[in-house]
Amino acid sequence: MSESGFRKTGQSAAERRQSANAEKQKAAAADICQSPLHARHKTRRINVGKVPVGGGAEISVQSMTNTRTADVNATLSQIGTLVQAGCDIVRVAVPNQEDSDALAAICKASPIPVIADIHFQSKYVFEAIEAGCAAVRVNPGNIRNFETVGQDMCKAAKDAGISLRIGINAGSLDKEIYEKYGAAVPEALVESALKEARLFEDCGFEDFKISVKHHDPITMIETYRLLASKGDWPLHLGVTEAGPAWQGTVKTCLAFGALLSEGIGDTIRVSLSAPPEEEVKTGCKILEYFGLRERHFDIISCPSCGRAQVDVIDLAQKVSEGLKDVQAPIRVAVMGCIVNGPGEAREADLGVASGNGKGRIFIKGEVIKTVPEDEIVPTLLEQAHIIAEKMEAEKSGAEKSEADKTESGKSGAEKTGSQKTKPEVFPVFGANHANLTN
Ligand code: SF4
Repeated sequence: MSESGFRKTGQSAAERRQSANAEKQKAAAADICQSPLHARHKTRRINVGKVPVGGGAEISVQSMTNTRTADVNATLSQIGTLVQAGCDIVRVAVPNQEDSDALAAICKASPIPVIADIHFQSKYVFEAIEAGCAAVRVNPGNIRNFETVGQDMCKAAKDAGISLRIGINAGSLDKEIYEKYGAAVPEALVESALKEARLFEDCGFEDFKISVKHHDPITMIETYRLLASKGDWPLHLGVTEAGPAWQGTVKTCLAFGALLSEGIGDTIRVSLSAPPEEEVKTGCKILEYFGLRERHFDIISCPSCGRAQVDVIDLAQKVSEGLKDVQAPIRVAVMGCIVNGPGEAREADLGVASGNGKGRIFIKGEVIKTVPEDEIVPTLLEQAHIIAEKMEAEKSGAEKSEADKTESGKSGAEKTGSQKTKPEVFPVFGANHANLTN
Protein backbone atom coordinates (compact mmCIF):
# COMPACT_ATOMS: atom_id res chain seq x y z
CA MET A 1 0.00 0.00 0.00
CA SER A 2 1.50 3.28 -1.05
CA GLU A 3 1.23 6.51 0.91
CA SER A 4 -0.77 7.97 -1.96
CA GLY A 5 -3.37 5.33 -1.19
CA PHE A 6 -3.82 6.74 2.27
CA ARG A 7 -4.03 10.30 1.03
CA LYS A 8 -7.31 9.46 -0.65
CA THR A 9 -8.89 9.47 2.81
CA GLY A 10 -7.74 13.05 3.36
CA GLN A 11 -4.90 12.24 5.79
CA SER A 12 -1.26 11.64 5.00
CA ALA A 13 0.53 8.69 6.57
CA ALA A 14 2.35 11.15 8.85
CA GLU A 15 -0.95 12.63 10.01
CA ARG A 16 -2.39 9.20 10.63
CA ARG A 17 0.73 8.24 12.60
CA GLN A 18 0.39 11.42 14.64
CA SER A 19 -3.25 10.75 15.37
CA ALA A 20 -2.41 7.12 16.25
CA ASN A 21 0.26 8.34 18.67
CA ALA A 22 -2.26 10.69 20.29
CA GLU A 23 -4.62 7.72 20.69
CA LYS A 24 -1.79 5.72 22.23
CA GLN A 25 -1.05 8.47 24.74
CA LYS A 26 -4.71 8.63 25.69
CA ALA A 27 -4.71 4.87 26.12
CA ALA A 28 -1.56 4.98 28.22
CA ALA A 29 -3.34 7.42 30.52
CA ALA A 30 -6.28 5.03 30.86
CA ASP A 31 -6.82 3.47 34.23
CA ILE A 32 -5.49 0.05 34.99
CA CYS A 33 -8.31 -2.35 35.76
CA GLN A 34 -7.48 -4.73 38.58
CA SER A 35 -9.41 -7.92 39.13
CA PRO A 36 -10.69 -8.52 42.65
CA LEU A 37 -10.02 -12.24 42.21
CA HIS A 38 -6.56 -12.48 40.70
CA ALA A 39 -3.79 -10.27 39.36
CA ARG A 40 -4.33 -9.70 35.65
CA HIS A 41 -2.10 -11.72 33.36
CA LYS A 42 0.53 -9.32 32.02
CA THR A 43 -0.02 -8.52 28.37
CA ARG A 44 1.19 -5.77 26.10
CA ARG A 45 -1.22 -3.02 25.26
CA ILE A 46 -2.65 -2.39 21.83
CA ASN A 47 -5.39 -0.03 20.74
CA VAL A 48 -8.54 -0.74 18.84
CA GLY A 49 -9.27 2.85 17.90
CA LYS A 50 -9.98 4.67 21.14
CA VAL A 51 -10.31 1.43 23.13
CA PRO A 52 -7.13 0.17 24.79
CA VAL A 53 -6.82 -3.61 24.94
CA GLY A 54 -4.33 -5.42 27.16
CA GLY A 55 -1.69 -4.06 29.48
CA GLY A 56 -4.22 -4.03 32.31
CA ALA A 57 -6.77 -1.87 30.49
CA GLU A 58 -10.43 -2.34 31.36
CA ILE A 59 -11.73 -5.47 29.67
CA SER A 60 -13.78 -4.45 26.65
CA VAL A 61 -16.93 -6.09 25.32
CA GLN A 62 -17.20 -6.83 21.62
CA SER A 63 -19.87 -8.14 19.33
CA MET A 64 -20.39 -8.66 15.64
CA THR A 65 -23.16 -7.36 13.43
CA ASN A 66 -25.29 -9.92 11.59
CA THR A 67 -26.61 -7.53 8.96
CA ARG A 68 -25.22 -7.52 5.46
CA THR A 69 -22.30 -5.15 5.88
CA ALA A 70 -23.04 -3.62 2.48
CA ASP A 71 -26.36 -2.44 3.89
CA VAL A 72 -24.88 0.59 5.61
CA ASN A 73 -28.09 1.81 7.24
CA ALA A 74 -29.01 -1.57 8.68
CA THR A 75 -25.46 -2.12 9.91
CA LEU A 76 -25.25 1.30 11.56
CA SER A 77 -28.66 0.84 13.10
CA GLN A 78 -27.54 -2.45 14.64
CA ILE A 79 -24.31 -0.86 15.83
CA GLY A 80 -26.48 1.77 17.57
CA THR A 81 -28.41 -1.00 19.35
CA LEU A 82 -25.15 -2.65 20.40
CA VAL A 83 -23.81 0.63 21.77
CA GLN A 84 -26.99 1.07 23.79
CA ALA A 85 -26.41 -2.38 25.26
CA GLY A 86 -22.85 -1.43 26.31
CA CYS A 87 -20.74 -2.61 23.38
CA ASP A 88 -17.21 -1.14 23.18
CA ILE A 89 -16.01 -2.53 19.86
CA VAL A 90 -17.93 -3.92 16.89
CA ARG A 91 -16.83 -6.30 14.17
CA VAL A 92 -18.32 -6.54 10.71
CA ALA A 93 -17.85 -9.31 8.16
CA VAL A 94 -16.27 -8.41 4.84
CA PRO A 95 -16.80 -11.37 2.53
CA ASN A 96 -17.08 -9.45 -0.72
CA GLN A 97 -16.36 -6.20 -2.54
CA GLU A 98 -19.71 -4.58 -1.76
CA ASP A 99 -19.05 -5.04 1.95
CA SER A 100 -15.58 -3.66 1.60
CA ASP A 101 -16.97 -0.63 -0.24
CA ALA A 102 -19.35 0.07 2.65
CA LEU A 103 -16.62 0.18 5.30
CA ALA A 104 -15.68 3.84 4.95
CA ALA A 105 -19.26 5.04 5.54
CA ILE A 106 -19.70 2.64 8.47
CA CYS A 107 -16.42 3.63 10.13
CA LYS A 108 -17.19 7.31 9.68
CA ALA A 109 -20.59 7.10 11.36
CA SER A 110 -19.97 4.41 13.97
CA PRO A 111 -19.64 5.73 17.53
CA ILE A 112 -17.42 2.79 18.47
CA PRO A 113 -14.34 1.32 16.76
CA VAL A 114 -15.07 -0.98 13.84
CA ILE A 115 -13.08 -4.15 13.16
CA ALA A 116 -13.20 -5.67 9.68
CA ASP A 117 -13.35 -9.46 9.64
CA ILE A 118 -11.49 -10.68 6.58
CA HIS A 119 -10.58 -14.06 5.21
CA PHE A 120 -8.62 -15.04 2.11
CA GLN A 121 -8.48 -11.77 0.14
CA SER A 122 -5.58 -9.52 1.09
CA LYS A 123 -6.96 -6.63 -0.95
CA TYR A 124 -9.85 -6.27 1.51
CA VAL A 125 -7.34 -5.90 4.33
CA PHE A 126 -5.72 -2.94 2.57
CA GLU A 127 -9.13 -1.48 1.76
CA ALA A 128 -10.30 -1.86 5.37
CA ILE A 129 -7.22 -0.03 6.63
CA GLU A 130 -7.76 2.72 4.11
CA ALA A 131 -11.47 2.94 4.98
CA GLY A 132 -10.58 3.84 8.56
CA CYS A 133 -11.24 0.56 10.35
CA ALA A 134 -9.80 0.54 13.86
CA ALA A 135 -8.52 -3.01 13.44
CA VAL A 136 -8.69 -6.00 11.14
CA ARG A 137 -9.23 -9.62 12.09
CA VAL A 138 -6.98 -11.47 9.71
CA ASN A 139 -5.22 -14.79 9.88
CA PRO A 140 -1.96 -14.79 7.92
CA GLY A 141 -2.42 -18.53 7.35
CA ASN A 142 -5.60 -18.12 5.37
CA ILE A 143 -4.61 -15.02 3.41
CA ARG A 144 -3.59 -15.97 -0.11
CA ASN A 145 0.05 -15.14 -0.80
CA PHE A 146 0.73 -13.80 2.68
CA GLU A 147 4.43 -14.37 2.06
CA THR A 148 4.34 -11.72 -0.69
CA VAL A 149 1.80 -9.27 0.77
CA GLY A 150 2.46 -9.74 4.49
CA GLN A 151 5.19 -7.13 4.77
CA ASP A 152 3.07 -4.49 2.99
CA MET A 153 0.04 -5.42 5.08
CA CYS A 154 1.95 -4.94 8.31
CA LYS A 155 3.43 -1.68 7.06
CA ALA A 156 -0.02 -0.39 6.07
CA ALA A 157 -1.42 -1.27 9.51
CA LYS A 158 1.57 0.30 11.25
CA ASP A 159 1.38 3.49 9.17
CA ALA A 160 -2.33 3.81 9.89
CA GLY A 161 -1.75 3.09 13.60
CA ILE A 162 -4.24 0.25 13.67
CA SER A 163 -4.08 -3.17 15.27
CA LEU A 164 -4.86 -6.65 14.00
CA ARG A 165 -6.30 -9.82 15.50
CA ILE A 166 -5.27 -13.35 14.81
CA GLY A 167 -8.39 -15.44 15.31
CA ILE A 168 -7.75 -19.16 15.53
CA ASN A 169 -10.87 -21.35 15.65
CA ALA A 170 -11.16 -25.08 15.85
CA GLY A 171 -12.77 -24.96 12.40
CA SER A 172 -10.03 -22.91 10.76
CA LEU A 173 -7.05 -24.71 12.19
CA ASP A 174 -3.90 -24.91 10.11
CA LYS A 175 -4.20 -28.10 8.02
CA GLU A 176 -0.74 -29.48 8.79
CA ILE A 177 -1.17 -28.85 12.49
CA TYR A 178 -4.58 -30.50 12.50
CA GLU A 179 -3.07 -33.57 10.85
CA LYS A 180 -0.20 -33.61 13.33
CA TYR A 181 -2.54 -33.66 16.35
CA GLY A 182 -5.56 -35.34 14.75
CA ALA A 183 -7.98 -32.98 16.48
CA ALA A 184 -8.37 -29.36 17.55
CA VAL A 185 -6.79 -29.97 20.95
CA PRO A 186 -5.33 -27.07 22.98
CA GLU A 187 -1.76 -27.84 21.86
CA ALA A 188 -2.86 -27.72 18.21
CA LEU A 189 -4.75 -24.44 18.57
CA VAL A 190 -1.85 -22.82 20.40
CA GLU A 191 0.73 -24.08 17.92
CA SER A 192 -1.37 -22.63 15.12
CA ALA A 193 -1.66 -19.29 16.96
CA LEU A 194 2.08 -19.14 17.60
CA LYS A 195 2.81 -19.92 13.97
CA GLU A 196 0.53 -17.08 12.83
CA ALA A 197 1.92 -14.70 15.45
CA ARG A 198 5.43 -15.38 14.21
CA LEU A 199 4.42 -14.42 10.68
CA PHE A 200 3.41 -10.95 11.91
CA GLU A 201 6.36 -10.62 14.25
CA ASP A 202 8.78 -11.60 11.49
CA CYS A 203 7.39 -8.59 9.61
CA GLY A 204 8.18 -6.42 12.65
CA PHE A 205 4.51 -6.05 13.59
CA GLU A 206 3.46 -6.53 17.21
CA ASP A 207 0.19 -4.62 17.60
CA PHE A 208 -2.07 -7.64 17.49
CA LYS A 209 -4.18 -9.67 19.85
CA ILE A 210 -5.00 -13.34 19.62
CA SER A 211 -8.08 -15.48 20.08
CA VAL A 212 -8.06 -19.29 20.20
CA LYS A 213 -11.72 -20.19 20.31
CA HIS A 214 -13.37 -23.56 20.72
CA HIS A 215 -16.99 -24.50 21.27
CA ASP A 216 -16.16 -26.76 24.20
CA PRO A 217 -15.58 -24.74 27.39
CA ILE A 218 -12.99 -27.14 28.81
CA THR A 219 -10.88 -27.16 25.64
CA MET A 220 -11.27 -23.40 25.39
CA ILE A 221 -10.10 -22.84 28.97
CA GLU A 222 -7.10 -25.12 28.54
CA THR A 223 -6.18 -23.49 25.24
CA TYR A 224 -6.19 -19.95 26.60
CA ARG A 225 -4.27 -21.03 29.70
CA LEU A 226 -1.62 -22.61 27.50
CA LEU A 227 -1.43 -19.59 25.20
CA ALA A 228 -1.19 -17.19 28.14
CA SER A 229 1.79 -19.17 29.42
CA LYS A 230 3.63 -18.64 26.11
CA GLY A 231 3.73 -14.86 25.79
CA ASP A 232 2.30 -11.42 26.44
CA TRP A 233 -0.13 -11.03 23.55
CA PRO A 234 -3.41 -9.39 24.52
CA LEU A 235 -6.07 -12.11 24.52
CA HIS A 236 -9.54 -11.91 23.04
CA LEU A 237 -11.73 -14.47 24.82
CA GLY A 238 -14.52 -16.33 23.10
CA VAL A 239 -16.37 -19.63 23.18
CA THR A 240 -17.15 -20.03 19.53
CA GLU A 241 -20.48 -21.35 18.27
CA ALA A 242 -21.65 -21.55 21.87
CA GLY A 243 -25.27 -22.18 20.87
CA PRO A 244 -28.61 -20.51 21.55
CA ALA A 245 -28.95 -18.01 24.37
CA TRP A 246 -29.24 -20.15 27.46
CA GLN A 247 -26.81 -22.94 26.52
CA GLY A 248 -24.38 -20.43 25.07
CA THR A 249 -24.59 -18.25 28.16
CA VAL A 250 -23.89 -21.20 30.46
CA LYS A 251 -20.88 -22.33 28.40
CA THR A 252 -19.55 -18.81 28.14
CA CYS A 253 -19.96 -18.04 31.83
CA LEU A 254 -18.13 -21.24 32.74
CA ALA A 255 -15.24 -20.60 30.38
CA PHE A 256 -14.93 -16.84 30.95
CA GLY A 257 -15.42 -17.34 34.67
CA ALA A 258 -12.53 -19.76 34.91
CA LEU A 259 -10.19 -17.62 32.83
CA LEU A 260 -11.13 -14.22 34.25
CA SER A 261 -10.76 -15.58 37.75
CA GLU A 262 -7.15 -16.41 36.80
CA GLY A 263 -6.59 -12.92 35.37
CA ILE A 264 -6.65 -14.14 31.74
CA GLY A 265 -8.52 -12.11 29.12
CA ASP A 266 -8.28 -8.55 27.80
CA THR A 267 -11.38 -8.28 25.63
CA ILE A 268 -14.38 -10.59 25.32
CA ARG A 269 -16.95 -11.61 22.78
CA VAL A 270 -19.91 -13.77 23.75
CA SER A 271 -21.07 -15.77 20.69
CA LEU A 272 -24.74 -16.67 20.82
CA SER A 273 -27.30 -17.78 18.27
CA ALA A 274 -29.32 -14.80 19.41
CA PRO A 275 -29.55 -11.09 18.57
CA PRO A 276 -26.07 -9.61 19.02
CA GLU A 277 -27.25 -7.16 21.69
CA GLU A 278 -27.90 -10.20 23.88
CA GLU A 279 -24.21 -11.08 23.51
CA VAL A 280 -23.27 -7.62 24.67
CA LYS A 281 -25.62 -7.63 27.65
CA THR A 282 -24.28 -11.03 28.70
CA GLY A 283 -20.66 -9.90 28.31
CA CYS A 284 -21.25 -6.72 30.29
CA LYS A 285 -22.98 -8.58 33.10
CA ILE A 286 -20.20 -11.17 33.32
CA LEU A 287 -17.68 -8.37 33.80
CA GLU A 288 -19.91 -6.55 36.27
CA TYR A 289 -20.39 -9.64 38.41
CA PHE A 290 -16.65 -10.26 38.38
CA GLY A 291 -15.99 -6.72 39.64
CA LEU A 292 -14.24 -5.92 36.36
CA ARG A 293 -16.64 -3.24 35.22
CA GLU A 294 -18.71 -0.61 36.91
CA ARG A 295 -21.90 -2.24 38.10
CA HIS A 296 -25.36 -1.07 37.00
CA PHE A 297 -28.83 -2.05 38.24
CA ASP A 298 -28.99 -5.50 39.78
CA ILE A 299 -31.84 -7.49 41.25
CA ILE A 300 -31.77 -9.90 44.15
CA SER A 301 -34.86 -12.06 44.17
CA CYS A 302 -35.64 -15.22 46.05
CA PRO A 303 -36.55 -18.42 44.22
CA SER A 304 -39.82 -18.52 46.21
CA CYS A 305 -40.95 -21.58 48.15
CA GLY A 306 -43.96 -22.83 50.04
CA ARG A 307 -43.78 -19.77 52.29
CA ALA A 308 -44.17 -17.28 49.43
CA GLN A 309 -47.36 -15.28 49.62
CA VAL A 310 -46.97 -13.51 46.29
CA ASP A 311 -45.93 -14.51 42.79
CA VAL A 312 -42.22 -13.73 43.23
CA ILE A 313 -41.30 -14.77 39.69
CA ASP A 314 -43.78 -12.36 38.14
CA LEU A 315 -42.82 -9.59 40.55
CA ALA A 316 -39.09 -10.03 39.88
CA GLN A 317 -39.61 -10.03 36.12
CA LYS A 318 -41.66 -6.83 36.24
CA VAL A 319 -39.12 -5.05 38.43
CA SER A 320 -36.25 -6.24 36.23
CA GLU A 321 -38.00 -5.07 33.10
CA GLY A 322 -38.92 -1.71 34.62
CA LEU A 323 -35.34 -1.00 35.71
CA LYS A 324 -33.35 -2.65 32.92
CA ASP A 325 -32.05 0.67 31.60
CA VAL A 326 -30.99 2.08 34.96
CA GLN A 327 -27.26 2.78 34.90
CA ALA A 328 -26.82 3.51 38.60
CA PRO A 329 -25.49 0.63 40.70
CA ILE A 330 -28.74 0.13 42.62
CA ARG A 331 -29.59 -3.29 44.06
CA VAL A 332 -33.27 -4.06 44.48
CA ALA A 333 -34.48 -7.07 46.44
CA VAL A 334 -37.75 -8.86 45.76
CA MET A 335 -38.47 -11.40 48.46
CA GLY A 336 -41.46 -13.65 48.77
CA CYS A 337 -42.04 -13.55 52.51
CA ILE A 338 -41.18 -11.68 55.62
CA VAL A 339 -39.60 -14.67 57.34
CA ASN A 340 -36.26 -14.91 55.54
CA GLY A 341 -36.60 -12.27 52.86
CA PRO A 342 -35.10 -9.24 54.53
CA GLY A 343 -32.20 -11.15 56.07
CA GLU A 344 -31.34 -12.64 52.69
CA ALA A 345 -31.53 -9.21 51.07
CA ARG A 346 -29.25 -7.40 53.48
CA GLU A 347 -27.11 -5.83 50.79
CA ALA A 348 -29.94 -4.31 48.81
CA ASP A 349 -30.53 -0.56 48.60
CA LEU A 350 -34.25 -1.08 48.25
CA GLY A 351 -36.42 -4.08 48.85
CA VAL A 352 -39.80 -5.59 49.37
CA ALA A 353 -40.80 -8.42 51.66
CA SER A 354 -44.25 -9.63 50.82
CA GLY A 355 -46.92 -11.27 52.89
CA ASN A 356 -50.63 -11.27 53.59
CA GLY A 357 -51.51 -9.46 50.38
CA LYS A 358 -49.12 -6.61 51.24
CA GLY A 359 -45.55 -5.59 50.58
CA ARG A 360 -43.30 -3.94 53.10
CA ILE A 361 -41.00 -1.59 51.26
CA PHE A 362 -37.57 -0.97 52.78
CA ILE A 363 -34.85 1.51 52.00
CA LYS A 364 -31.52 0.75 53.63
CA GLY A 365 -33.25 -1.38 56.18
CA GLU A 366 -35.93 1.10 57.18
CA VAL A 367 -39.58 0.37 56.43
CA ILE A 368 -40.79 3.34 54.47
CA LYS A 369 -44.26 2.06 53.77
CA THR A 370 -46.55 -0.93 53.47
CA VAL A 371 -48.51 -1.16 50.25
CA PRO A 372 -51.18 -3.48 48.84
CA GLU A 373 -49.86 -6.20 46.55
CA ASP A 374 -50.92 -4.46 43.35
CA GLU A 375 -48.87 -1.40 44.31
CA ILE A 376 -45.63 -3.25 45.02
CA VAL A 377 -44.19 -2.94 41.51
CA PRO A 378 -45.07 0.74 40.90
CA THR A 379 -43.81 1.66 44.36
CA LEU A 380 -40.53 -0.18 43.91
CA LEU A 381 -39.98 1.35 40.47
CA GLU A 382 -40.72 4.86 41.73
CA GLN A 383 -38.40 4.50 44.73
CA ALA A 384 -35.69 2.83 42.65
CA HIS A 385 -35.67 5.71 40.18
CA ILE A 386 -35.39 8.24 43.00
CA ILE A 387 -32.44 6.37 44.54
CA ALA A 388 -30.81 5.87 41.13
CA GLU A 389 -31.04 9.59 40.35
CA LYS A 390 -29.45 10.38 43.69
CA MET A 391 -26.64 7.93 42.99
CA GLU A 392 -26.05 9.46 39.55
CA ALA A 393 -26.02 12.98 41.03
CA GLU A 394 -23.53 11.93 43.72
CA LYS A 395 -21.35 10.30 41.09
CA SER A 396 -21.38 13.41 38.87
CA GLY A 397 -20.59 15.56 41.90
CA ALA A 398 -17.67 13.31 42.86
CA GLU A 399 -16.34 13.31 39.28
CA LYS A 400 -16.63 17.07 39.03
CA SER A 401 -14.86 17.56 42.32
CA GLU A 402 -12.08 15.20 41.20
CA ALA A 403 -11.78 17.06 37.91
CA ASP A 404 -11.61 20.39 39.76
CA LYS A 405 -8.86 19.07 42.04
CA THR A 406 -6.88 17.84 39.07
CA GLU A 407 -7.39 21.12 37.28
CA SER A 408 -6.02 23.07 40.18
CA GLY A 409 -3.04 20.71 40.32
CA LYS A 410 -3.64 19.89 43.95
CA SER A 411 -4.03 16.17 43.60
CA GLY A 412 -2.15 15.13 40.50
CA ALA A 413 -0.55 12.23 42.31
CA GLU A 414 -3.93 10.97 43.44
CA LYS A 415 -5.03 10.52 39.83
CA THR A 416 -2.68 7.62 39.24
CA GLY A 417 -3.94 4.09 39.76
CA SER A 418 -7.56 3.14 39.62
CA GLN A 419 -10.52 2.89 41.84
CA LYS A 420 -12.85 2.40 38.95
CA THR A 421 -13.13 -1.33 38.89
CA LYS A 422 -13.15 -2.11 42.57
CA PRO A 423 -16.51 -3.58 43.41
CA GLU A 424 -18.55 -1.05 45.31
CA VAL A 425 -19.19 -1.60 48.96
CA PHE A 426 -22.81 -1.03 49.73
CA PRO A 427 -24.41 -0.05 52.98
CA VAL A 428 -25.65 -3.01 54.92
CA PHE A 429 -29.35 -3.53 54.65
CA GLY A 430 -30.09 -3.16 58.32
CA ALA A 431 -33.66 -4.50 58.45
CA ASN A 432 -34.56 -6.62 61.38
CA HIS A 433 -37.41 -8.92 61.85
CA ALA A 434 -39.03 -6.63 64.41
CA ASN A 435 -39.59 -4.09 61.64
CA LEU A 436 -41.02 -6.70 59.38
CA THR A 437 -43.52 -8.12 61.69
CA ASN A 438 -45.09 -4.77 62.53
S1 SF4 B 1 -37.63 -15.30 50.99
FE1 SF4 B 1 -39.36 -16.45 51.89
S2 SF4 B 1 -40.56 -17.11 50.10
FE2 SF4 B 1 -38.55 -16.51 49.34
S3 SF4 B 1 -37.41 -18.43 49.26
FE3 SF4 B 1 -36.89 -17.41 51.20
S4 SF4 B 1 -38.37 -18.31 52.65
FE4 SF4 B 1 -39.17 -18.78 50.60
